[in-house]
Amino acid sequence: MNALIAQSQIATQPEPSAAVAQFLKRAPRLFIGGEWVEAKSKERISVVDPATGREIASVVDASAADVDRAVAAARAAFDKGPWRDMLPSDRQALLWKLSDLIEKHTDELAELESINNGKTKFMATVVDVAGTRDYFRYMAGWATKLEGSTFETSIHGPPGMKFQTYTAREPVGVVAQIVPWNFPLAMAAWKLGPALATGCVCILKPAEQTPLTALRLAELVAEAGFPPGVVNVLTGLGETTGAALVAHPGVDKVAFTGSTSVGKLINKSATDTLKRVSLELGGKSPVIVLPDADINTVIGGAANAIFFNAGQVCCAGTRLFAHKKVFDQVVDGVSAAAASIRLGPGLDPKTVMGPLVSREQQERVLGYIESGRKEGAQVMTGGEAPASPGFYVKPTVLANVRPEMKVVREEIFGPVLVAQRFDDSDDIAALANDTPFGLGASIWSNDLRAVQRLVPKIRAGTVWVNCHNFVDPNMPFGGFKQSGFGREHGRAVLDLYTELKSVCMAY
Ligand code: NAP
Ligand code: MG
Repeated sequence: MNALIAQSQIATQPEPSAAVAQFLKRAPRLFIGGEWVEAKSKERISVVDPATGREIASVVDASAADVDRAVAAARAAFDKGPWRDMLPSDRQALLWKLSDLIEKHTDELAELESINNGKTKFMATVVDVAGTRDYFRYMAGWATKLEGSTFETSIHGPPGMKFQTYTAREPVGVVAQIVPWNFPLAMAAWKLGPALATGCVCILKPAEQTPLTALRLAELVAEAGFPPGVVNVLTGLGETTGAALVAHPGVDKVAFTGSTSVGKLINKSATDTLKRVSLELGGKSPVIVLPDADINTVIGGAANAIFFNAGQVCCAGTRLFAHKKVFDQVVDGVSAAAASIRLGPGLDPKTVMGPLVSREQQERVLGYIESGRKEGAQVMTGGEAPASPGFYVKPTVLANVRPEMKVVREEIFGPVLVAQRFDDSDDIAALANDTPFGLGASIWSNDLRAVQRLVPKIRAGTVWVNCHNFVDPNMPFGGFKQSGFGREHGRAVLDLYTELKSVCMAY
């Protein structure tokens, strides 16, 4: 009861630091060709603190003319600039320098991310900013490790002629990178890191709700000394800036993370110019609890799988499947964990979970909860917004759900878990795979035989065992089915940012 009362009293957002307050006052500008330029567009986007609902800054909604200018700057940097001739070790050094600057400004970046996205400053520090720093450092290493192969030709050529053949990897060129609002800085790093390591040039479009850390990152890019035009940052709406980038003939590749519906639009639009496309899209990842699993580990793990980042995670463990032997214990435990989560503004050190990113997202998530209720789901905990001007949703667990319900089929992207019981471990793969998505899945069990038999049956890009949401720069990440295509991270990401050139020399 105390926990419920505590939850409904939402604290006030503390004032930002002087450095962040100063940054918020900056005039809306675009980062093009290494300079902060006045936009041709007169349209502006209001940036809001989700903990208060109040405007904290304003940024440009870049027009097609602004996109033209950024593409021209990027093309010049790629086709004629010093970047193409730069030694891999120099690209590596620049990426390290950028990550050092990120480390130096950790506190400011974490605070900016917190007041823009809603997540806690603590989480932004240890996950988003630390992850961004480490991601650039990891990717820096690949700059000096790009390689091709030599191979024997396999058939006869004209009599007396032999061939020397090899492959080389070359950067794909100008890359438009369109990212979402759930991990604004880290998503920018996932895009910029491998592109810069492989010698591409970038035009980054952050999400309309969360442009602030991308703008601060652009300042750090300039400070690190990247040549002009290698990184450009355009703030703007998806329908204006994003669509213009995707359609632009001067762009060679689009790298996108976001919703499956927009991913499909982008894929269609990019077809006209046959751009390279990589898509990291939505998910509806299952958390599968086998009967032997350690219950306490499962309760903490399953709660974290769904409530981390307020459920605004593409691979969030949204569909819990627990064997009938353990179902009640697991659902009661996760519900109690959910009820004990302290909601509040991100800059309050006592907060465990912040608000959702926007009013729109809050309404979407509450709409899903309502539809679950109407279709007969049982609300075990949460199920509503606390009284606050901020965009909060209480961590929610829905039980008694059926596979055809909207809350089970669609990506909610909020702190809402749907729990289903299963009777027979032989059926669980079919239940888990009964979704158009295939991004992640986790299996909770210490029965090695059962786990090893289940892993190959799960149609997902990542299968975690006794953990969930752990993402490493060295571990390929991406989707099966409608969760997208292409793999980010590790060696696999090099395929997304390079063209393979075959060289065949007769002698
Ligand atoms: P979204 O529209 O897919 O946003 C992702 C990015 O794509 C944003 O930068 C967005 O710009 C841009 N965009 C939108 N329409 C575009 C277009 N026609 N052409 C080019 N770029 C375009 O996602 P959202 O509207 O922010 O969120 C809606 C739902 O998507 C969420 O509720 C969630 O289910 C899902 N989502 C999934 C992920 C993920 O990682 N899988 C991330 C975020 C959201 P704007 O910012 O202007 O929209
Ligand atoms: Mg959108």
